[in-house]
Amino acid sequence: MSPHPHSVSWIDAEPTRPPHAKIVATLGPASDSDEMLEKLIEAGVSIFRLNFSHGSLEEMDNRLAKVRRAIDNSGRCVGILGDLQGPKMRVGIVPDLDEDGGMIVNPGDDIMFRKDQREAEIIDGIPTFGASFDELYNDVLPGQRVLINDGMIRMLAVDQVPGESLRCRVTIGGRITSKKGINLPESELNMPAITEKDWACAKWAAENQLDYVALSFVRTAEEIRELKTRLEEWRPKADEEKYDGIDHSIPVVAKIEKPQAVKNLDDIIEATDAVMVARGDLGVEMDVAKVPVIQKYILSRCNMLGKPVIVATQMLETMIDSVTPTRAEASDVANAVLDGCDAVMLSGETAVGKHPRVVVETMQRIIRVTESRMDDLALNQATPTLKEYPFRSAALAKGVWYMAEELGAKAIAVWSEAGGMARYLSQNNFRVPIYAYTSSKIASRRMALYGGVTPIYTQPPDTGRLRDWTDMVEDLIRSEGITNDGDPVLLVAGKPLGALLAQSTVSILRMGDLSSGFRVSTDL
Ligand code: PEP
Repeated sequence: MSPHPHSVSWIDAEPTRPPHAKIVATLGPASDSDEMLEKLIEAGVSIFRLNFSHGSLEEMDNRLAKVRRAIDNSGRCVGILGDLQGPKMRVGIVPDLDEDGGMIVNPGDDIMFRKDQREAEIIDGIPTFGASFDELYNDVLPGQRVLINDGMIRMLAVDQVPGESLRCRVTIGGRITSKKGINLPESELNMPAITEKDWACAKWAAENQLDYVALSFVRTAEEIRELKTRLEEWRPKADEEKYDGIDHSIPVVAKIEKPQAVKNLDDIIEATDAVMVARGDLGVEMDVAKVPVIQKYILSRCNMLGKPVIVATQMLETMIDSVTPTRAEASDVANAVLDGCDAVMLSGETAVGKHPRVVVETMQRIIRVTESRMDDLALNQATPTLKEYPFRSAALAKGVWYMAEELGAKAIAVWSEAGGMARYLSQNNFRVPIYAYTSSKIASRRMALYGGVTPIYTQPPDTGRLRDWTDMVEDLIRSEGITNDGDPVLLVAGKPLGALLAQSTVSILRMGDLSSGFRVSTDL
């Protein structure tokens, strides 16, 4: 008996194509040994994240040297992202008043924040704390919320002595320990978007030529432009880059975690190179019920405006301890993929968790299974969502998308020396892999974040001829096992190979057919 047309026989098929969505993994004590770094790259990490909220710059020196060594040894194109803490306000030092540590505050209690309070103490019966920014004593108005430890402890401001102190009444109590974060969702803080500490970390990131720098608590596009200007000033410049045509300036990732950023979203997306949906602080700064729709909205705007987008925080949180995720977590990763993210991020799971390798493998498996079923689900129909750009490469990328659809192409191969053509292709929501060749190490590591793009760092064939590259592509695609003889693959490259600003052309390769592709172009 033939199966019912709606029987779900596809559910058992093994995924075949390489993953489209990338994995960003945060480094920490659980993951920065040489052996673990090797395993994480092997398991599918595309970008490592150095979190400047934790650890000194000397510790970062060490971590960076190790991760660079591991990436070089792997021979893969893996990028490094430095994440600036931004103006995150924190409680000062809190001594341990019992064996569980810190101080307990109860609903209905009054507590005080006081300028220059070095260590928390009980003063006149009131628990009194210090904080890392003095704006707390000027910019928080009575009735506004003061949230501690990711919103676990909640209070309302009662009154302030300007520049001196702020009294609050606890609504949800708990234990306050040293350096816990403070969020002030309703207060307009008159504080710089980029703190002294951030500038020191940004300088370090520029001097060490990280592949991406992320800025936390962004509010306006101007903050992104300011960071980009300073990164460019601090970046060491080699003489030859005047001629190599690559954009060496360090790309910036805007972390969307404040209501003001959501309001200014399109301007921020235009100004930045990539976006992160930073759901941890977003869910404290805004009603947690709004996070899912804001996430979907940010993803759709980034897809439309053509900027890579990362979904971050608590994706596989329970795997910090457990070897399996909750069903809700697995669905969360899958839904981010279905909604068109370029990357999903692991934080504590790889930084301090018990099973960093298993977490990356699990995430990779969820991504691959989800992507391989997209067509069967008839969800997220591949469409070129990108807004029209009046650039030749953008127009060509969109044209390639239509050709790929018409022909049922199994893969795209592009020679993208500076990474630009690969980025435009990536933004067009291809559901087939894009193999992007470059002889620029910088471009290859940045491409690691682009959804659907597999960067390949290699030299062009000695002849510089497109037909010799066609042979390289055919060998690679054959080894990936994603095609049969006769299957079409689209080739995009300019002449001579590896040259910048070369006008790209598109050609159709039929696997195994010696007369196809650039082999019959005028280049012969
Ligand atoms: C977040 O808040 O979700 C986030 C990614 O930032 P951080 O880990 O720096 O708090």
